[in-house]
Amino acid sequence: MEDCIFCKIVRRELPADVVFENEETIAFKDINPMAPTHVLVVPKKHLASLDDLTGDDVGLAGNLLLAVKEVAALSGVAGGYKMLSNCGEAAGQVVPHLHFHILAGKKFVP
Ligand code: 5GP
Ligand code: ZN
Repeated sequence: MEDCIFCKIVRRELPADVVFENEETIAFKDINPMAPTHVLVVPKKHLASLDDLTGDDVGLAGNLLLAVKEVAALSGVAGGYKMLSNCGEAAGQVVPHLHFHILAGKKFVP
């Protein structure tokens, strides 16, 4: 996607504080952190949200979850973090490229 912010980060056309990368996934610190640890885990493939996942993405979805676990460990918060994905504008999604937030060091409800 030409104008997608996260695709631009994947292509290194925009700077980001990258903390993890593998073939299908990249993770970088949120530019506007809501907690002491706030990292975004993003598939390199452009998908607007979880709603765009199909059966073809089973491997990608599994790798994303494993990346979340790995990034939490790399960030020193394994066992004590929240992971969430806003799906759609009504849920607060601002960047229409699937991403998981990893948040730690602050209480969030729920
Ligand atoms: P959403 O509300 O879509 O679930 O979350 C998007 C997140 O992306 C926000 O927490 C926002 O701070 C972050 N964000 C938006 N633009 C950029 C950017 O250019 N770089 C980084 N690192 N984070 C961004
Ligand atoms: Zn994108």
